[in-house]
Amino acid sequence: MFKMQAGRSCLRHITRHGASNLRPLSPQPRLLHSRATEYLPSDQPDFTDSQRTVREAIAKICSKYPDEFWLQKDTAKQFPHELHADLAKDGWLGICMPSEYGGSDLGISEATVMMQTISESGAGMTGASSIHMNIFGLEPVVKFGSEEQKKRWLIPLIKGEERACFGVTEPNTGLDTLKLQSLAKRDGDDYVLTGSKIWTSTAQVANKILILVRTTPLEEVKKPTQGLSLFYTDLNRSQVQVTEIPKLGRAAVDSNVLFFDGWRVPAADLIGQEGNGFKMIMHGMNAERVLVGSEALGLGYAALRRASVYAQERVVFGRPIGRNQGIQHPLADSWMKLESARLMIYLAARLYDQGYETGEYANAGKYLAAEAAFEACERAVLTHGGMGYAKEYHVERYLREAMLPRIAPISREMIFNYIGERMLGLPKSY
Ligand SMILES: Cc1cc2nc3c(=O)[nH]c(=O)nc-3n(C[C@H](O)[C@H](O)[C@H](O)COP(=O)(O)OP(=O)(O)OC[C@H]3O[C@@H](n4cnc5c(N)ncnc54)[C@H](O)[C@@H]3O)c2cc1C
Repeated sequence: MFKMQAGRSCLRHITRHGASNLRPLSPQPRLLHSRATEYLPSDQPDFTDSQRTVREAIAKICSKYPDEFWLQKDTAKQFPHELHADLAKDGWLGICMPSEYGGSDLGISEATVMMQTISESGAGMTGASSIHMNIFGLEPVVKFGSEEQKKRWLIPLIKGEERACFGVTEPNTGLDTLKLQSLAKRDGDDYVLTGSKIWTSTAQVANKILILVRTTPLEEVKKPTQGLSLFYTDLNRSQVQVTEIPKLGRAAVDSNVLFFDGWRVPAADLIGQEGNGFKMIMHGMNAERVLVGSEALGLGYAALRRASVYAQERVVFGRPIGRNQGIQHPLADSWMKLESARLMIYLAARLYDQGYETGEYANAGKYLAAEAAFEACERAVLTHGGMGYAKEYHVERYLREAMLPRIAPISREMIFNYIGERMLGLPKSY
């Protein structure tokens, strides 16, 4: 049962246990012209009670932030602090965090619905990325942190008083994480960090960073997975140079290059044992893929919604363009692809919550969702014709953002590698 603080009423009645009973079905068609609370249906036939409650509550919050809000944020490159504050106020940032630190003890199955709903409201990857790291990024702290660290870090994060970013990717090594070059050397009560990170999202607004660095050089370890260590610490701007990267989409949520040379980090901010960082960071990877997949799904559904509305309203050659099968069939095809991906994502989420540890469904679900979303966004632009290229119809923003889940947090090619090796028994190709 939830142990939410007074005033955090939205989550209070949701329980995970016994939440799997499905309701009798009464599916309503999506009310495409309506506000988010109405066009984000919560009566999906496969939703559990807890997922349905999450869907309704998040849709209600998101209805305050229409597409025009996100267009303005994108144009002005302004971080959406408002959504973050609203979600923190009602306790949503702790959706899958332990209740003793202010969280809700729910699972990835519910967080998936939350992230999909945020994105689907029109907030897209911008809205989702503005809180993504704070939802699940501190899983290594939950699993491997000391009691003192959990109290010190999780409580302010869930309250929205602190914000975290995530520094793993490096300029010189990319997806080859085990070769990352940033080094930390112990010096008294501190570690001294030297190196760089790239693409660190939200570093302009975050005051904390979860960062993976080497504490033992690669040449000195038996296995490359050894000698990496994980810290959660203050993003000290007097010692870390943070430079924003201009990019294709999601302009409201920054991504950055970080440089540090002699950055002193307290040893008290090391998570778990020195040298075990890779194991810890891997722990939450499947869940992260599921969440990013759900964010992609939301974007795909948002695009499809806009395309369907436009196809009904736009009259050319004396009839709505949606009467042409050349317009209607690709949209129907996209609906089916998004739904298939959704089933895989929800399966992966459920399996994760049940303790299933391998990543085939999480990886495959993320891949399928990202591809289906990208295709849906492209088709939404094409359905709008010239107006698809105009900002005021929002689908060009969706299309730009739809590239992101295809690339991060893991690329399509690395997912193919994983499936090829692990599921098909093919030789490792790299
Ligand atoms: C907007 C954005 C936000 C991000 N936010 C964060 C963040 O907050 N924190 C963070 O740590 N990282 C973040 N990332 C980084 C992201 O996770 C990486 O970009 C992604 O993992 C790919 O790594 P890379 O860019 O270094 O690609 P590279 O490793 O340089 O790869 C380039 C291309 O080569 C392909 N390739 C490489 N090796 C192989 C192989 N063996 N077989 C087949 N193909 C291969 C890749 O699939 C890819 O297509 C973000 C990225 C973006 C674009």
